[in-house]
Amino acid sequence: MDFRLYFRSRQGEMVHLLKQLVLLESPTSDKKAVDACVAFVTKELKKVGCKVTVHPQKETGDLTLAEFAPGRVKDADDEILVLAHLDTVWPVGKIAKMPFYVQGPKLYGPGVLDMKGGLVMLLAALRALHGLNVKPQKRITVLVNSAEETGSDAAAELIRKLARKASLVLCLEPALPGGALKLERKGRLVVRLDVHGRSAHGGSPEKGASAIEELVAQIAKLKRLRTGETTVNVGLMGGGEKVNVVAEAAWAVLDIRFWKASDRDRILRVLRESVPVLRGTRIKVTVEGSTPPMEKTKASEKLFVRAQEIAAGMGLALKGGRTGGGSDASIAAGLGIPTLDGLGPDGDGLHAAHEHLLLPSLVERTALLTELLKSL
Ligand SMILES: [Zn+2]
Repeated sequence: MDFRLYFRSRQGEMVHLLKQLVLLESPTSDKKAVDACVAFVTKELKKVGCKVTVHPQKETGDLTLAEFAPGRVKDADDEILVLAHLDTVWPVGKIAKMPFYVQGPKLYGPGVLDMKGGLVMLLAALRALHGLNVKPQKRITVLVNSAEETGSDAAAELIRKLARKASLVLCLEPALPGGALKLERKGRLVVRLDVHGRSAHGGSPEKGASAIEELVAQIAKLKRLRTGETTVNVGLMGGGEKVNVVAEAAWAVLDIRFWKASDRDRILRVLRESVPVLRGTRIKVTVEGSTPPMEKTKASEKLFVRAQEIAAGMGLALKGGRTGGGSDASIAAGLGIPTLDGLGPDGDGLHAAHEHLLLPSLVERTALLTELLKSL
């Protein structure tokens, strides 16, 4: 079966489905809007032979768990977990300024690349397997997250539980520009620094200990963390009460990104061992968020080589690359489960007004995904 040919003749259908999904705008913070999109995706998953379970959530959109054609796959232990999300960074109404349209090979619209295009690929691939009565080698489970863009707090535990019993994980985040898969992602730490000093009259600051001055000194020292490709961004800071009072408290929140799990421990050790520069001040370090890096392991490299072979058999050259941002794939990969990410379409403008996908890649990647789901 030449799936490239097969999906080329179905490009119109896929674009139509993508349009319906994009018109159901689904910003992470708007539960009602996201749940309308969940209902649509749930219906589509059922149409392609999935058994669907919805996990209701209080604050964020509901999570959708789908088991592909349960009666049809032999009772194998091996399972593929597919990760997707349907929330976007775009508010309801954005569609008026950022309409869904096709211009040449490019398809524009809020969320087309991140990652409603990936969802459409998945639905088309499952529809093909179901309709053509193809029996995959492994069981296929799909988790559609509804709150990925704000850090997957609600879904993380479920992702870990599902990943632990899967033999491999495929994630439908967009490809790197040019089409490479995302084999490595940076880990992330969100760390808050609180400095406590001693207040005094602004006219005799020598009687106090300025938390602001201490914080500034500590921020200047952060450069010791920026070794290798570790980055530190001081995204937020504040402190003090009045201009004529020596500041008693000051704080900053850091966003730190790194490639290796071992970097995390080094970074936290350095921060926790911070010694105040000014006498009379104290520093408190709090970890507010932590995402593991997606590291290149032997197992994931083996999976990538296998995917490359499958792609080559279809006349496609598959490359691998790395990216600074995290995704749900990082959560699965953090457990040591072989994971491929960036299987979604090629395009550009992630979280930007020119977000678009390249239509030829939508067809090619759907064909590849179908072959991977069938043969891996
Ligand atoms: Zn995404």
